[in-house]
Amino acid sequence: MSEITRVEPDLQFIKYLKSAGGDSMKKCYQCATCSVVCPLATDGNPFPRKEMIWAQWGLKEKLAADPDILLCHQCGDCTAYCPRGAKPGDVLGAIRAYAYTHFGFPQGLAKLCSDGKNLPILIGIPVLIIGILWMISGGMALPDVETFKEVGFGHFFGHWDFHWLTKNVFFIDLIFIPAFFFAAFAAFKGAKAMWDRMSDSLDANPDFRPSAGQFVVDFLAPAVIESVKHKRFNECGVNRNRVIGHLPLLLSFIALLAVTSYSLLRKDLFSLLVSEELRAVLHGPIPLADPFKVLANIGAIALIVGVGILWVNRSRNEAEQGSRATFYDWFLIGLIMSVGISGLGAEIVRLLGIVWLAYFFYFVHLVSIFMLFLYMPYTKFAHMVYRIVAMAFEKYRESRFVNPAVGE
Ligand code: SF4
Ligand code: SF4
Repeated sequence: MSEITRVEPDLQFIKYLKSAGGDSMKKCYQCATCSVVCPLATDGNPFPRKEMIWAQWGLKEKLAADPDILLCHQCGDCTAYCPRGAKPGDVLGAIRAYAYTHFGFPQGLAKLCSDGKNLPILIGIPVLIIGILWMISGGMALPDVETFKEVGFGHFFGHWDFHWLTKNVFFIDLIFIPAFFFAAFAAFKGAKAMWDRMSDSLDANPDFRPSAGQFVVDFLAPAVIESVKHKRFNECGVNRNRVIGHLPLLLSFIALLAVTSYSLLRKDLFSLLVSEELRAVLHGPIPLADPFKVLANIGAIALIVGVGILWVNRSRNEAEQGSRATFYDWFLIGLIMSVGISGLGAEIVRLLGIVWLAYFFYFVHLVSIFMLFLYMPYTKFAHMVYRIVAMAFEKYRESRFVNPAVGE
């Protein structure tokens, strides 16, 4: 007797996909042209044709457990060649946006970040937190131009005589260290939930699993290296120039991370080991000729250029391919642009000695960075984490832990 599969579409899910950019999915008539052009498709895995029908049927559980959704590198070849204008690339983008909310932790914050209508709240939260701490710190009274030229933003959160740790560094640490650890924990929880869901869909022996060390060496580390090299972007056809925007952005993040770490060591650690005079210098602004300052400025410019290219590419896609503008796509682009422009703006206006304007840019900069940290696990930024996990999973499902024939 043949087995009957009952399909129970989740209408809410279909509605969400349509609102998140997948409104063209009903046009798909399963011709499989997309699977012919997609570099991820194989004979036994007609990607993304089968995902298109799952999306039409509202099979959210199957889609959430499908690593291919995250392995897609958004080249847009499938959309360009689809004869029906079903825009499979956009549908996959909407499914990914759903996955970040679905696996997001805590759920309330993940849902808040999934809708553009919540933007005033998303901006209001960090403005309120940083604004209140700024007020409590007593730093709202602007310094005179001479003091500002000497200490830069070193008195933004006020000043005290406890020379081991400046008040500014104390407040910056108070704001960003918890935000960083919160985001890292939330991203870990989301990525683990996704891994567990994908593992459940495999026919693997639950008692034969890799150790933590094996997981890192065999699956995670190679996935990270592959991701940093942007190897799969080179498989893109029509949208090959995305790598031109992605790469400077990635390198700028690495450069800015190095500069932030240096600044932390310089102000929080090196300054404890030197004389009183030198400590005052280390606690002040980093000189323009300092190699790390040069790296910071290059990183900021690379950040603006990289995100600017992505901005232009996105606008062009919307104009030429009729892709729908989604909050999910534009929120991160706008946020990164805000980080870059406010950072560079604060630096330039500081050198010009316009205190109030420099303080304004600096406040916007702090708010933008805080938003980047806090909302990272739920925005398109999370793609970096989820994609690396999916790449590690791809290696795992092809390993001896899942397929006993491997290595025989
Ligand atoms: S998405 Fe387009 S190319 Fe792919 S199967 Fe459907 S109609 Fe064909
Ligand atoms: S966007 Fe590129 S990688 Fe993704 S499904 Fe389409 S063709 Fe495949």
